[in-house]
Amino acid sequence: MRIRYIVKFTMIFGLMGCFAWGPRASKYLPETTALQQHYDYDGEVIIIGAGAAGLAAARVLEENNVSYVILEATARLGGRLGESTEFADFPIDLGAEWIHNNAEILDVLTGEPGTAASIELIPYHLKNAGRWDGESYETVSQWELDARFSYFPEYKFKNSTWFNFVRTHFGVPVEEKIKYESPVTAIDYSGERVEVKTEEGQLFVADKVLVTVSVGVLKADVIAFNPPLSATKRAAFEEVEFDQGFKLFLKFSEQFYPDAIECTGEAVDKAYWDVTFGKDVNDHVLGLLARTPSVENYYALGSEEAIVTAVLEELDLMFDGAASRTYTEEYMLLDWGRQEHVRGTWVEGFLIENATLETLNASLAHKVYFAGEVNDARRQLGVPGAILSGFDAVDRLLKGQD
Ligand SMILES: Cc1cc2nc3c(=O)[nH]c(=O)nc-3n(C[C@H](O)[C@H](O)[C@H](O)COP(=O)(O)OP(=O)(O)OC[C@H]3O[C@@H](n4cnc5c(N)ncnc54)[C@H](O)[C@@H]3O)c2cc1C
Repeated sequence: MRIRYIVKFTMIFGLMGCFAWGPRASKYLPETTALQQHYDYDGEVIIIGAGAAGLAAARVLEENNVSYVILEATARLGGRLGESTEFADFPIDLGAEWIHNNAEILDVLTGEPGTAASIELIPYHLKNAGRWDGESYETVSQWELDARFSYFPEYKFKNSTWFNFVRTHFGVPVEEKIKYESPVTAIDYSGERVEVKTEEGQLFVADKVLVTVSVGVLKADVIAFNPPLSATKRAAFEEVEFDQGFKLFLKFSEQFYPDAIECTGEAVDKAYWDVTFGKDVNDHVLGLLARTPSVENYYALGSEEAIVTAVLEELDLMFDGAASRTYTEEYMLLDWGRQEHVRGTWVEGFLIENATLETLNASLAHKVYFAGEVNDARRQLGVPGAILSGFDAVDRLLKGQD
């Protein structure tokens, strides 16, 4: 979602009290998921991608003793989830970071009531935020921050990360079945069984395949399908916006900035946030999340060092030189848009038209299925949507439904 979009929605709907994201999103949640079902299936399955969706689907296969393998392009699990435990004195989310919903969504994802209550979470209810239009800085009023939290309740993990949550509940139980560094380049579903080829030329054959790569990877035609994908399916991929973007983390010797800074202006989509918000830690880490079109201006600078310099200059303008005075010369930049096996940031899944969603989710001859953030029929955002789509797709796959 546009980083500023949330704030606008807060003002319009939150204050009118007629609509709120939390209850709206919760309304679409299933009472039970595939994780609580029992399946009898004696075929073989290949899952492509070990992100949140692929791991969630794999966990269902694992629980039901289905024979399967996960082919993952990179050397790690998690996809757009990542964690750094080295940069600061607390674990940092390199990809997804916020739970964009009421915390109870965690119970639905694990299928275990009490999950949310057993994890220390931080209500992301800001007390101190600013707005920067490139020239002047103003403080955001408390009523606006209160309205934002009531319209769009969000939480963060206090001593943990989204990555760790997904690894613990979905990654660890299936990890032995992951074949890392196995980028898939071709899927042939013209015969009775499906043939899957990797870049190294390895051939895997199964009865059903579940594709969970990002829509950026699908748009880029990295995987050749035989028979080719229909023009309608390809048009549905193209319809979905998948902006470029990066996360930059900077360490300072003291905190001179507020909880968050919203950046405004023409062709701007970026925000700063205090990464330590609500955490009992000593380090001071400020994050910058930049997406298309803001990210293009940073890319034009040519190097990471030049980006860091530009960011420090901007912060100095806002805070009277405090950034360069207190910068510890430590930064970390994660450019998700430029990662070969991701090619973007996130999708505003809940905005996808129903007809497009149906096309995105349609199987190929009941042999090849699709799951991932973009396939989320539960209309959530980000990680929960990806996990739920994994459950839903594997349910259809095992039942032979479209
Ligand atoms: C910077 C950033 C911030 C975000 N913030 C949030 C947030 O705060 N909260 C939230 O809920 N969500 C957030 N998201 C979105 C969230 O990360 C995604 O919705 C979710 O992780 C998507 O999971 P997925 O399984 O659908 O896809 P992915 O995580 O993209 O997983 C796909 C997997 O497929 C693998 N793969 C790709 N190509 C191939 C191939 N050819 N062969 C084999 N494997 C392949 C990839 O390596 C990857 O492991 C954020 C994302 C980004 C990038």
